Amino acid sequence: MSPAPPPFKQLKVAIVGGGLGGLSAAVALRRAGHLVSIYERRDFKLEVGASISCAANGTQWLREWGVDIASGRPIQLMKLVMREWKTGKILNQYSLDDYEKTWGNVYNMFHRVDMHTMLLETATQEEGEGTPCSVVVDHIAKELDHEKGTVTFENGITVQADLIIGADGIRSAVRSLIGAIPDTKSANQTCYRCNVKTEDIKRLGLVEWAADPGIQFWGGYPTDDLSMYYKIVMSPCAGGDIVSFYCFMPTEMTNHTQEGFQFAEVPVSDILAGAYSQLDPNCVDLIKNSIDRMPWRLYVHQPYTHWTKGNVAVLGDAAHPMMPHQSQGACMAIEDAAALGIIFSKDYGFTTDVEAGLAMYQQIRKPRATRVQNASARATENLNERIGFSSLSAPEAKLAAAENKLTVDEMNLYDMKAHVAKEVASKYSGSKAGNLQA
Ligand SMILES: Cc1cc2nc3c(=O)[nH]c(=O)nc-3n(C[C@H](O)[C@H](O)[C@H](O)COP(=O)(O)OP(=O)(O)OC[C@H]3O[C@@H](n4cnc5c(N)ncnc54)[C@H](O)[C@@H]3O)c2cc1C
Repeated sequence: MSPAPPPFKQLKVAIVGGGLGGLSAAVALRRAGHLVSIYERRDFKLEVGASISCAANGTQWLREWGVDIASGRPIQLMKLVMREWKTGKILNQYSLDDYEKTWGNVYNMFHRVDMHTMLLETATQEEGEGTPCSVVVDHIAKELDHEKGTVTFENGITVQADLIIGADGIRSAVRSLIGAIPDTKSANQTCYRCNVKTEDIKRLGLVEWAADPGIQFWGGYPTDDLSMYYKIVMSPCAGGDIVSFYCFMPTEMTNHTQEGFQFAEVPVSDILAGAYSQLDPNCVDLIKNSIDRMPWRLYVHQPYTHWTKGNVAVLGDAAHPMMPHQSQGACMAIEDAAALGIIFSKDYGFTTDVEAGLAMYQQIRKPRATRVQNASARATENLNERIGFSSLSAPEAKLAAAENKLTVDEMNLYDMKAHVAKEVASKYSGSKAGNLQA
């Protein structure tokens, strides 16, 4: 006789923060059969950004949740190009033709606004499995009662939920309210991001820059007159309408050495400082014709002691803010969301014991996200720490294991469903382990 299915209760879920992580969690928990409300502090129309990388380990979950990925107008990464800083001469090209075949999913590059719109649409639309999520804007979370399961917002409104998710980003209020203390220091490297419209690239006669479907790096390797903190990453996104630039430089060379974060646009001269004055003139032309030029202050965060308290948990940047050098910020937020969807699914009995489910969430997610967080910090000063794109050969894998280095195999071959099943089975028997005992 097959065992009885584990008990399942539809949960009322409150997600604080409607960024990429919060919306992903909304989709995952909607698909798992729950009633989800997203509380966002501001109007989504204010969102800005540049390209967001979504490697195979992120794309996998978008597909699993039935997201209409094409609606997010991604560009698939097919080629990496390394150029010389001063001349723009191509030093190296690396084809990713076998990326999908190797990992089962493509490497997408979205514009942040498109990716956000795609996830918001998936969370709230009538079509698709589960009850459409509701979205409430102009709600800034400021208080939390993890015993009563309530969140109170600055406008005086209090809501009660069975499960509260803090997806409120790098300066998370929810994280502070569950008593996780930040250990953060300003990074030696600062980034400016900006966008160039493809129509402007064509107008400048630099068509090859728009047509190339790849990421292009200049620098990143220290030379006599180029410190390790100089690096440009360029990615096409928005269906090819935009090319995004991430311009990294030593913090000491910028006007943004003080703590704090400014959302004010910067003049071109802020970007073309230091070694950028010697950059390939074509690239300088592109930056001069850019829009949305924003400083992105970078911080190195140590892992938090805990991510949960009672029926409250944090995810995404609220849980594991990281340097951008593995391009895994958004993917890690998506994986957090996927873990919540699996743990609170009908396969397990955690919906009748949310606190135990969140303990399992932390057990599953914290070690992996912390490895990525640490490897992202190391890659700031050593490009060889980047996880790369192709599967490692046996000797490379052996070396990586000896050095405890994060690898692309580890990222893309990971089976989260099997991981959850194994951890639950080893920790529980009966209702939570559910049909795993069969
Ligand atoms: C403006 C911006 C631009 C970014 N651009 C890039 C980029 O170009 N490339 C890249 O790789 N990464 C970028 N990132 C980081 C990347 O988006 C994250 O690593 C990743 O997407 C994780 O998202 P998240 O949902 O955890 O956090 P976030 O994307 O920061 O979302 C947090 C959300 O919570 C809301 N919020 C914050 N506090 C409260 C509160 N008290 N109450 C209610 N709501 C609250 C915020 O308004 C925001 O919508 C950017 C982040 C921001 C905020």
